[in-house]
Amino acid sequence: MKIINTSTLKGMIEPGTKNIKVKIGDKLYTIDLSWQKTGYGQRYFFVCPICNKRYSDLHIEGKTLKCRNCSPMNKYWGIQNSTKGGFIDITYRMLRVADKQDIKLKFPFDYTDFLFDERERKKDFRKTIRVLQALENMRVQTIFYKTTYPAKIIRLVLDDEHPFMVNYSLQDIKKYLIRWY
Ligand SMILES: [Zn+2]
Repeated sequence: MKIINTSTLKGMIEPGTKNIKVKIGDKLYTIDLSWQKTGYGQRYFFVCPICNKRYSDLHIEGKTLKCRNCSPMNKYWGIQNSTKGGFIDITYRMLRVADKQDIKLKFPFDYTDFLFDERERKKDFRKTIRVLQALENMRVQTIFYKTTYPAKIIRLVLDDEHPFMVNYSLQDIKKYLIRWY
């Protein structure tokens, strides 16, 4: 997750400019600006494209640009120890997987929210939904049982190659806590 801050562009923006284009990685983002009068001139803020509020920094993950309050990770930022295969790790992976398919993630993840999504016709999309439901199953167990998952198991799930992902229906994966290893 990259952070873009207003201070990194100090002095480079004409007062009154309505929006700027910023290239990060190989993606071009358009960011709306909002100006505020100060004692010595004007300063600008970024406008979050989701809530339309002003912020001096925005977070970029994949194709998504948003303020900290609109990011689902917001509530976990305070937690520093991110155990591999634990709660934060699994949550981050879910965000990354969802982002690749432009899926707006809500927790807990529920595949039935996407039953009528027209992207369901695409194999990649259906795979992503399956992966997210499986990760949600794991995430719940990291919360309630403090389970941590070995990298190998997470990899199998991310690749949609864990045998349970064939043996269990999405409904089962949503309903039952599965022993993934
Ligand atoms: Zn926002």
